[in-house]
Amino acid sequence: MLQLLKTLADCDQFRQTHKNITVALVPTMGNLHQGHLALVRLAKRHAELVVVSIFVNPTQFGPTEDFDRYPRTLDADLRLLEAEGVNAVFTPTVETLYPKNNLAEGFQLIAPVGLTQNYCGASRPGHFEGVCQVVLKLFNLLGPQVAIFGEKDAQQLAVLQAMVEAYNVPVQIIPHSVVREADGLAKSSRNQYLQTEEERQASLGLIKTLHAVQQKVQTSPTPLKTEVTFEEAWQAIQPTLPQTPQLKWEYWAAAHPETLEPQAILTPGLRLLVAARVGSVRLIDTLLLAP
Ligand code: AMP
Repeated sequence: MLQLLKTLADCDQFRQTHKNITVALVPTMGNLHQGHLALVRLAKRHAELVVVSIFVNPTQFGPTEDFDRYPRTLDADLRLLEAEGVNAVFTPTVETLYPKNNLAEGFQLIAPVGLTQNYCGASRPGHFEGVCQVVLKLFNLLGPQVAIFGEKDAQQLAVLQAMVEAYNVPVQIIPHSVVREADGLAKSSRNQYLQTEEERQASLGLIKTLHAVQQKVQTSPTPLKTEVTFEEAWQAIQPTLPQTPQLKWEYWAAAHPETLEPQAILTPGLRLLVAARVGSVRLIDTLLLAP
């Protein structure tokens, strides 16, 4: 039976009832797909009970971002979670988590600049602070021993790992690899906004570029420069994409796999990170260069 938790009192009761039982939390914003469900299955292997939270967190969206139009499909989500044998789902309202309604002025955790100045952090000021804020609340309310996060949001994972270490939060963070569509596109709730077949094909530019960079690194006898290699890889895959230029890069980078420090030279073991816009949709993807 899927238990529904909505209020802070529901969370208190849940924690009291399951004091000596291990709990794994999977935080999500809902509109669940196979990527989320893969996290749920991993969660089951790490704890006796699995709790999924569904909350579109306003504090991690910028004023011009897609908070209002973010897809909300609670009934379908609940059916999927019930079928997966999830034990409880926490679906708070904004007022429940932010009762004073001072979203911007409330107490904030500031993530280290080194982790947030690049990549998604550069174009989404305050995003990771909002993520830390809501995740710490969820940890405190639900008391999990482990929490599962996707490597697709690699920068988010690094920031949360740092938060847990910095504040001695007693939650073990476990990553899950990127779950993809059959053609390689990383699964995302935002993929449904790719409006035409051309946009869908253009969106494959992210993973195709990552694979082309990987191939170049694997076959090159000499060290390669990040910028040059990404540019070359992008040029090489261009003919495989729709003629109209639908894809606008926001960034491409190689980073240290844990600190996410940008790297100018490509070496095995680094994490490749990309973000681009296709039509009105912002997509991100990542690939670990085989060590
Ligand atoms: P979201 O609902 O987009 O906030 O995602 C909730 C969790 O699912 C986050 O930890 C994401 O990193 C993870 N996630 C979303 N899409 C994928 C995917 N395609 N593969 C792996 N994890 C994912």
